[in-house]
Amino acid sequence: MRVINFNPGPAGLPLPALERARDELLDFQGSGMSVMEHSHRGKEYEAVHDEAISLLTELLGIPATHQVLFLTGGASQQFAQVPMNFLTPDTGADYLMTGVWSEKAFEEAKYYGKPRVAATTVQPDKHYTRVPRQDELKLDAKAAYVHLTSNNTIYGTQWHTFPDVGNVPLVADMSSDFLWKRIDVSRFGLIYAGAQKNLGPSGVTLVVADKAFIARGRKDIPKFFRYTTHAENNSLYNTPPTFAIYLVRNVLAWMKGLGGLEQMERQNREKAALLYGAIDRNSGFYRAPVERESRSVMNVVFHLPSEELNAAFVAEAKKAGMVGLKGHRTAGGIRVSTYNAVTVENVRTLATFMDHFVKTRG
Ligand code: PMP
Repeated sequence: MRVINFNPGPAGLPLPALERARDELLDFQGSGMSVMEHSHRGKEYEAVHDEAISLLTELLGIPATHQVLFLTGGASQQFAQVPMNFLTPDTGADYLMTGVWSEKAFEEAKYYGKPRVAATTVQPDKHYTRVPRQDELKLDAKAAYVHLTSNNTIYGTQWHTFPDVGNVPLVADMSSDFLWKRIDVSRFGLIYAGAQKNLGPSGVTLVVADKAFIARGRKDIPKFFRYTTHAENNSLYNTPPTFAIYLVRNVLAWMKGLGGLEQMERQNREKAALLYGAIDRNSGFYRAPVERESRSVMNVVFHLPSEELNAAFVAEAKKAGMVGLKGHRTAGGIRVSTYNAVTVENVRTLATFMDHFVKTRG
């Protein structure tokens, strides 16, 4: 029996993608071995690798100016790899601070250059309840790039319109909302996302990079950390995480089969509307700390009136077959992560549970 999985990441994967992996696990396409036992230079694996790239290119509408890379080390490695490639001790980059992950990215940049806080919505209690407005950004036209976190997994805030940063390349950590809908890739110098929320298992990081931007990256850093090394070798410079990429391929094929990112967006908006609807009609009981315009479609955060009720909510939901609802330790309360694999039906079950919980415990 599979549970309804609201984990923040690693998160639930679409059943058809897992079933496909199960069916092919021991004997991949009659080759007598698993895909993970194949050489990364063999034609069997290469076809999977290339299909994953072409599916992503098609789904997201990636223009010819940009290239897909499969890297490792998670989004955390990107926190360091971005400044390593684009900063020198004398150059700056603008960071838009919207949560714990932006703070971590900013700290890593200090090892290579002079990152600046170009905007922050941190509050005196160190929490964040919104993303900045355009008029709050203090951008430096000479910055090497502007960095933002498109969706703040812990606080449940999201950029619904990306800021105008002029001609400076925009770098975005999209770990927790990559592929929730279609975006205009041409606006970004570089996008990165750990796969383990919307896309597949942990172990592979997806990068979509502007080729001209990465070509300007530093050449005096170890070869392995240059984006161009991986771009020139189609992400096969060294052994990539083949099984993780295979599963990403399965997830992308599933997305395409359902109707692509337009369908993902419809479902994600419907799920968010169900949850915020349940919060708002019971606003005397559930409290959503995030300001309305910044509410995340992927991670819905709310608090019950007491710690005891938060704990009871998690425990009773678990009895009803729903897991992964406890808020992040720094934010507390409840967090519902509704990535692409979570169905509208799953969320409807939770929204009904929320109404019922108020009636019995409110
Ligand atoms: N950025 C965001 C927005 C995240 O949600 C996370 C993980 N929860 C990270 C970065 C860190 O990712 P990783 O564990 O892949 O390094």
